[in-house]
Amino acid sequence: MTNPLLEEHLLPPFSSITPEQVVPAIEQRLNTNRERINQLLAELKGKTPTWTSFVAPLEEWDDELSKAWSPVGHLNGVLNSDELRDAYNACLPLLSQYSTEIGQNRDLFDAYQALRNSAEFETLSTAQQTTIEHALRDFRLSGVDLEGDKKARYGEIKQRLSELTSKFGENVLDATQAWSKIIDNEAQLAGLPDSAKGLLAQLAGEDGKFKVTLDFPSYMPIMTYADDRELREEVYTAFVTRASEQGPSAGEFDNSEVMKEILALRYELAQLLGFENYAEYSVATKMAGSGQEVIDFLNDLAEKAKPQAEREFTELSDFAKTEYTVDNLQPWDVTYYAEKLRQSRYAISQEDIRPYLPIDTVVNGMFETVSRLYGIQFEEQSSFDTYHPDVRFFHVLKDGEQIAAFYLDLYAREKKRGGAWMDDCRIRRQTIDGVQLPVAYLVCNFTPAVGDAPALLTHDELTTLFHEFGHGLHHMLTQIDVGAVSGINGVAWDAVELPSQFLENWCYEPEALAFISGRFEADDNHQQGEPLPQALLDKLLAAKNFQSAMMMMRQLEFALFDFRLHREYSSDNPVTPEQILAEVRNQVTVVPVSDFNRFQHSFSHIFAGGYAAGYYSYKWAEVLSADAFSKFEEDGIFNRETGQSFLSEILSQGGSREASELFENFRGRSPSVEPLLRHSGIETEEVA
Ligand SMILES: [Zn+2]
Repeated sequence: MTNPLLEEHLLPPFSSITPEQVVPAIEQRLNTNRERINQLLAELKGKTPTWTSFVAPLEEWDDELSKAWSPVGHLNGVLNSDELRDAYNACLPLLSQYSTEIGQNRDLFDAYQALRNSAEFETLSTAQQTTIEHALRDFRLSGVDLEGDKKARYGEIKQRLSELTSKFGENVLDATQAWSKIIDNEAQLAGLPDSAKGLLAQLAGEDGKFKVTLDFPSYMPIMTYADDRELREEVYTAFVTRASEQGPSAGEFDNSEVMKEILALRYELAQLLGFENYAEYSVATKMAGSGQEVIDFLNDLAEKAKPQAEREFTELSDFAKTEYTVDNLQPWDVTYYAEKLRQSRYAISQEDIRPYLPIDTVVNGMFETVSRLYGIQFEEQSSFDTYHPDVRFFHVLKDGEQIAAFYLDLYAREKKRGGAWMDDCRIRRQTIDGVQLPVAYLVCNFTPAVGDAPALLTHDELTTLFHEFGHGLHHMLTQIDVGAVSGINGVAWDAVELPSQFLENWCYEPEALAFISGRFEADDNHQQGEPLPQALLDKLLAAKNFQSAMMMMRQLEFALFDFRLHREYSSDNPVTPEQILAEVRNQVTVVPVSDFNRFQHSFSHIFAGGYAAGYYSYKWAEVLSADAFSKFEEDGIFNRETGQSFLSEILSQGGSREASELFENFRGRSPSVEPLLRHSGIETEEVA
């Protein structure tokens, strides 16, 4: 019996893939790879490995595996079914076990090390050298060169950390679900939009009743709109004390001990691997050069944004006082009055924007934008193997030759995961038969066309599309031929959002909106209509930057707390989250905070997710993208030479060189925070 997942195809044979093929295909690929790797290592015994004899075949086998897995992961996201989900989930532990095995394989590590020390190394390309250096680094970070007791301890720590981080997440979930409040008097929900009330009614499932929960779609509307101050206080209190020793379910799902143990083990892990602390371990794979650099970066931003954040808060307090005679803003008042202020000054309805952003105008305008910047063209294909009729497929051309391709899957539908993302389908790499071209999946969840009108986007959706296309171009326009560092592969985590956030900037430029937007009129035979008026754009910009300094201080509070905690914790000085958070708040917080606030107890990004000592990456990448774009503001947003320079210095280089080196090659200097502050409408002394 043939299995299409195991056959050679230029593109995934979507229409012939079935769930029952998945587990056998992945098992076979993994087992074959294991045998091949053992055989390869046996053949290399006593010989010096070379790129061709060692790394090239490993890369080939890795690519075969990902070609079997990539369509499965994609279909699981965009065309889910119970059978497919089961098959997908059954593969996850197999894949993770395989990657642990590889990461701990001492013979593989030694072979890489021998290649690194061989005379051949100096003759290899930068991309090849980086691939080898990254491999050695990742082996070390997996504890491969630890001996005896230390190796065993490494395994124990990893095991225990995975239990603890999972426990942390469970506690947050359980605490979130443990609290709810039934309201049977609709008047108590005055202020809430009908959509929010509808949701609460649905949650209650009983006529005339409403159920308030701590899930975001319930919590946020209460904090933003509920006129009842006591209700806001009650919900706020329950929310910010989740999984702690405070609040309505005090002590029941308390994460205090979990956090303590996580911090101690992370510190021990970092020490085992030769790092001073966990923060240094985290930055070892990132663009930031050291922990101190991250701290300086965050402190600098905080110092620059704080004066305006204070002014914004004063403005909010004054507004609440004059308009609503509220004297002393409490933590549960801030979001509520901020919304009132926003409505009164910057009200803009995304619905007003929609008619200006019909999907075909937007997609063609996006192609035109990047075509002007990078001299590439797009050609839609009519015949290709697909999984849904909505999906479109394009070739990317340069000088008439195909250099990449992508699937465009734009609309929300049943069985499709929410959100928007870019994923790779094929990576660019040198094979025995020539260069394999990169192929991307671009997925969004826009509202589909209704009636005769085409799909019409909001401005948020427009920027989402540009964001994902930015990731897509990073993947597709790469000129690197080594798979491990081509496209987005091997790019430091704090730099990977650069190309995506960068491309969003064109969504705010009149010169670009002139052809990205065009008012849809039902009876004009699809002529391109009037572009988005300047007055609407001005409102959009003002709304975008509303309270941006306050928002930035909040992000900096999270980032500084996360980074300082992981940097300052040591076995000699076991600082607590409470201590560090209090110090950070002292430095950066401009809004009132309650004594009982235990935000840290539900900070899953860093205690249950992968952002430990890495939360700063969000801001870091924003600084890079804003600063890269500022070069276009200086030279002209469609300056072809600047576009070419961005393409050749950053976009096409993948992970072949350090992100800081690439950035400096393009910008001619190291990153500056000034453009981000300016784009966020934050005035500092220097630039005011
Ligand atoms: Zn992104």
